Amino acid sequence: AAKRDEENLCHFFDESMETRLMRTKLIEHALHEALAQNQFFLVYQPQFSAQTGALVGCEALIRWIHPEEGFIPPDEFISVAEHVGLISAIGEWVIDESIRQLVRWREMPVLKNIRIAINLSSVQLEDKTLLDRLQRKLKQAGVAPDLLELELTERVVMTDAAENVSRFQAIRAHGFDLAVDDFGTGYSSLAYLQKFPLSVLKVDKQFVDPIPDDEGACAIANAIVSLAHSLDMKVVAEGVETGEQVHWLYRAGYDLLQGYYLGRPMKAEDFQQWALTDYPVIVAKVWGHPS
Ligand code: C2E
Ligand code: MG
Ligand code: MG
Ligand code: MG
Repeated sequence: AAKRDEENLCHFFDESMETRLMRTKLIEHALHEALAQNQFFLVYQPQFSAQTGALVGCEALIRWIHPEEGFIPPDEFISVAEHVGLISAIGEWVIDESIRQLVRWREMPVLKNIRIAINLSSVQLEDKTLLDRLQRKLKQAGVAPDLLELELTERVVMTDAAENVSRFQAIRAHGFDLAVDDFGTGYSSLAYLQKFPLSVLKVDKQFVDPIPDDEGACAIANAIVSLAHSLDMKVVAEGVETGEQVHWLYRAGYDLLQGYYLGRPMKAEDFQQWALTDYPVIVAKVWGHPS
């Protein structure tokens, strides 16, 4: 029976590996077409000032709806794009589209000063021409660099840490804010955190989820705020899903909040509509005054 189980197990693994490989191949092939046929679009998730409820920014998140396969999540296709060398082209499209959006929003009173945070892949960070290109594109569009924030995951920040110190100095010298995404999920060296010229820590959802019931999670969330503030960084909580979390994070001194409870990622037109109609309602409900 043991032998039979073993065989079944092998069979099972072979099959799932094969399926995974086929899926990766499919995505790889389809990504080329997606770029050429404009199948990508961006959604924007609002970021609120935790203390006042002001709508200060948003995070741009890429979306892909494949004509046959349907929705394919970025967690699935970004890593494939990195492996097959397509991330630079996709990342460049994200940059261009975000800048176009900043230009459009400057014409709209409620969104005039909104900032957009974009996620950068390690491949983009290593590209020595990125900063000059960003600067040139923003200048052409007439958009100030401080309206664009760059997010790098903690993993990327801590890999190649020595090299990154100078990379990050260059990013900041160009006027861009730099956020550490998914903070707490990697292996941050506290010594490096001090050496890095970072602007923002984004506390991962996994620490936000158990708030306010779990004492341990609350202790960590408190420690991260004091760490961030003593290093002159702002701190964002991501994945905020309940009103209790909002109140706790507000009292803990968080700077910015992002999560489904406050606003989902939305297409540009929906975001604009949301800002006019839903946003004032949620601010009044949570912060007790219309903004
Ligand atoms: P991320 O940068 O940490 O983005 C936050 C993710 O959490 C997003 O997933 C967002 O939709 C989701 N989220 C936000 N609030 C909540 C909440 O309250 N509850 C829950 N359950 N989820 C929430 P998404 O859009 O699927 O993106 C996943 C990851 O893919 C991103 O994680 C980012 O690492 C990557 N990604 C997305 N867009 C891009 C892009 O344009 N370029 C690159 N390089 N990576 C991207
Ligand atoms: Mg992010
Ligand atoms: Mg994150
Ligand atoms: Mg993430």
